[in-house]
Amino acid sequence: MQKSRSSGSEVVDATGSQKSVVLELASRFGTRVVVLGSGFGGVSFVKSFLSHASSSLLDSVELVWVTKRNYHLFSPLLYQVAGGLVDEHHVLDPLPHFGGNRVRVVEAEVEAVDFTGRAVYTDVGPIGYNYLVVALGSSSNDFGIPGVKENTLPLKTAQDGERIRNRILASFGQAAIIGADSPERVALLTFAVVGGGATGVELAGTIRDYTGLLAKRYGFRRQDVRVLIVESAGTLLPGIGGRLPEKCRQDLESAGIDVRLGARVVKVDVEGVHLSNGELIESRNVFWTAGVKPNPVIEGIPETVAPKKKGRLEVDSNLRLIGHSEVYVVGDCAWVNTGGDTTAAPQTAAAAVQEGEYAGSHLAHTLGGKKVSGSFIYHDQGIMLSLGRFSGLVELANGIILSGLIGWLVWRMVHLVSIATARNKLGVMFDWGLSLVRRRIITRTD
Ligand SMILES: Cc1cc2nc3c(=O)[nH]c(=O)nc-3n(C[C@H](O)[C@H](O)[C@H](O)COP(=O)(O)OP(=O)(O)OC[C@H]3O[C@@H](n4cnc5c(N)ncnc54)[C@H](O)[C@@H]3O)c2cc1C
Repeated sequence: MQKSRSSGSEVVDATGSQKSVVLELASRFGTRVVVLGSGFGGVSFVKSFLSHASSSLLDSVELVWVTKRNYHLFSPLLYQVAGGLVDEHHVLDPLPHFGGNRVRVVEAEVEAVDFTGRAVYTDVGPIGYNYLVVALGSSSNDFGIPGVKENTLPLKTAQDGERIRNRILASFGQAAIIGADSPERVALLTFAVVGGGATGVELAGTIRDYTGLLAKRYGFRRQDVRVLIVESAGTLLPGIGGRLPEKCRQDLESAGIDVRLGARVVKVDVEGVHLSNGELIESRNVFWTAGVKPNPVIEGIPETVAPKKKGRLEVDSNLRLIGHSEVYVVGDCAWVNTGGDTTAAPQTAAAAVQEGEYAGSHLAHTLGGKKVSGSFIYHDQGIMLSLGRFSGLVELANGIILSGLIGWLVWRMVHLVSIATARNKLGVMFDWGLSLVRRRIITRTD
């Protein structure tokens, strides 16, 4: 959207409509730090800044947190929302838990960032800044494949998780009133996950458990239900080396999941998923976890304004935007420069947390006139996957793999500890407890 400022208090968009400005362009406090996004990067920045800044520094800084929703989404449990295992409210932590009354939360959609004019444009007006933290994450990537947007469901937000669960339940409801020999019933009971990365394998694993439980409730045989993973690479978990991808494939296949490797999707339509070899997987339930692309706001920033690699904003070893030392970029939208074609940190929650922590302490030290910490160094903490009931895979940083029940228990303990609020920890424990006696959410909310 093209914008021009009409005065210090109003913004006019291309259609000529005016919106009131929520914050004056310059801060009354002297220094305004604006944080964009309340995901893993944004939350860990805020926590780190508040813990490293002295109270006199905090009195002279206005911390403004701009984000679409007033919560932090704990995405590692999102696939469990989709599989009816965890209530969606239990993966949403309220922002005041992290920032208290030191932070001003502005619920708004960021539309554009002007690094030169030091202003953020939002749907409730422009906000000026002295320091900016960009933590807007990434969005689902359809790779331009026809029909993906219209005929698949992504898994990125809490609402996506709820939508997938509703779709699964709706399909069972419809299949139950269709004749056993109808091809439509087969398509309704076929669940295809496109993308065999970490999110895809976890989603497929939980769908296998969930649909097994629903099959019993709706009077189907287990073999009436089909769950597939479709992956274009020759292996699951592309990009992850070692023995883990093969072990993951074996575990999923032994759970009854049809793993299709080297299967390239060329189109998705109302019939189902079309592969490059001409095969059609007929399905009314196609879930898209094939990858991510930069957030649209980042996509809208020209490379002449801010250098990018693979669409992500390039930052220096202190996580500051090249050419703009007052701007930090953390999480999925940051490309931590190593001088080569690789980034120093992957697009994971663990990396976003480490980057946010580093940037928060770096800025607090800079503003407090203290010696700043050295360069950002990413610490690999290994990989963890939950593949279904009592089935987990954990690869520790030293290469040791824990699988089956042990891997599953380690996964659950680590994730339970990572949930921010006591309310949600208890909520998730309650949900998990019920699932042990095969009780999941089976009511539609749409
Ligand atoms: C289903 C799923 C499961 C995952 N599981 C794991 C896992 O087990 N382990 C792991 O390490 N990683 C996991 N990830 C990856 C991990 O979630 C991301 O790498 C991590 O969230 C990145 O953090 P971030 O702060 O960059 O972005 P996000 O956490 O995505 O946060 C982005 C924030 O920006 C806000 N935002 C975006 N656009 C706008 C806008 N225009 N205006 C205002 N606000 C905006 C969003 O609302 C959000 O608050 C998973 C991801 C998904 C989708």
